[in-house]
Amino acid sequence: MDSKAAPRVEMLFFPFVGGGHQIPMIDTARLFATHGAKSTIIATPTNALQFQNSILRDQQCGHLISIHALRLPDGAVSPDTDMSATPSTDTSVLQEPLRLFLLENRPDCIVVDGFHRWAADLIDELQIRRIVFTGNGCFSRCVTQNIRQYMPHEKVASDYEPFVVPGLPDRIELTRSQLPPFARQKSGLPDKISKSEEKSAGTLINSFHELEPAYVEYFRNELGKKAWVVGPVSLCNRNVADKAERGKRASIDEQTCLRWLDGKESDSVVYISFGSLARFAPQQLLEIAHGLEASNHPFIWVVGTIFSKSEGGREEEEGNWLPCGFEERLKESNKGLIIRGWAPQLLILEHASVGGFMTHCGWNSTLEGVSSGVPMITWPVSAEQFYNEKLITDVLEIGVRVGSVEWMSFNVEKKALVGMEKVEVAVKRLMGGGDEAMEMRRRARELAEKAKRAVEEGGSSYNDADALIEELKLNPVEEGKL
Ligand code: UDP
Repeated sequence: MDSKAAPRVEMLFFPFVGGGHQIPMIDTARLFATHGAKSTIIATPTNALQFQNSILRDQQCGHLISIHALRLPDGAVSPDTDMSATPSTDTSVLQEPLRLFLLENRPDCIVVDGFHRWAADLIDELQIRRIVFTGNGCFSRCVTQNIRQYMPHEKVASDYEPFVVPGLPDRIELTRSQLPPFARQKSGLPDKISKSEEKSAGTLINSFHELEPAYVEYFRNELGKKAWVVGPVSLCNRNVADKAERGKRASIDEQTCLRWLDGKESDSVVYISFGSLARFAPQQLLEIAHGLEASNHPFIWVVGTIFSKSEGGREEEEGNWLPCGFEERLKESNKGLIIRGWAPQLLILEHASVGGFMTHCGWNSTLEGVSSGVPMITWPVSAEQFYNEKLITDVLEIGVRVGSVEWMSFNVEKKALVGMEKVEVAVKRLMGGGDEAMEMRRRARELAEKAKRAVEEGGSSYNDADALIEELKLNPVEEGKL
């Protein structure tokens, strides 16, 4: 996608301050710059450091993109927390700096993450056209909406009795144990977010039409949402440097990682990652380690820094949670690579040796798995990940479930462990070369091709991005709404 000639529309992007929300919004800003918009990313000074190199590279390619670092009030604590911000992280310290910036700068629109809960009121008050970004795909948005509307989970007798989500294009079964607490009981937060979405000019969705056509239509026509579906936005990362540094600098040198993968056969390696937030307890990691070893398939396993409670109740880094002799055996057999910290996920997933992705079904990871043509082992933990699991396994049929049954907040130790046998069975089922797995791989590859076509000139996502730019050009800023 090359830059286009003027006139340019001016788009501001105000990402949330961490991982799974920040990363795709930066990519989205970069994507719109390749469509000829003038993109400005509003960030805290420390957050800006995490993606400034990729923006610099885009500028060198001639794209009109820049970062505006908000000046925090003296003594204020910046809300960004090294990719570990959670939905409840309070960012309101950014309110006044943003207001001052917007008083001086009137863009054609501002794309804002719904987790900045205070921002909609401010932006609407200043009469700037506001576009919402929630980080989710259409399928999970439709499931969320219909559960809220019909409350089917109230009609079952136990947390583990399945219910069907009414009204959807497919028969989607869930259990109450898989729902986030705010979906089980009425809570004010989703209401506030959805009301502010209703008043917005529309929603930007990181997905592509061909992935979930029935749900894109349902979202637009049945739920009545104005949506531009412009992804997968991760595909704007086209060179090794962008992929290696995405999110933050990887904890492993990318060449070491790629050399290790080069030494493996095609489609032989399972990549295991649970996103930017999920941290398992040492007992769960032990089960994973045993299961992987028993499966006897090569793997790359990303574990964050593991903490456990010390006697005094303090969180302490836990060093010694692997089974006895595990790492020595791995070194000898060269069967596995453990990454402690941040992995260059896009580079790994796109490598020809990677044939399976054990994932927590975060939406970005799901899309990245799809875009790389890699079938998945689904291990949802929190947020809307159980809904994404249904899309992967039941609708798209490109994944097998490990058997995670209970929603838990990402930072609370799981009550129900997934045992080593389940890990072993799931890995063998996906990586063992059986007909079922080969069929999943074929379907995953087909979707990857469709994903690439969607973002190329003339593709569905490309056209949606252009359509938004055209609407921005046609409608004067003063109207406030499209
Ligand atoms: N990610 C990464 N390296 C890691 C962990 C995560 O690059 O070690 C990226 C991943 O590629 C994805 C994002 O972080 O783009 C995680 O988003 P997702 O929606 O999958 O999960 P979340 O972190 O929001 O739970």
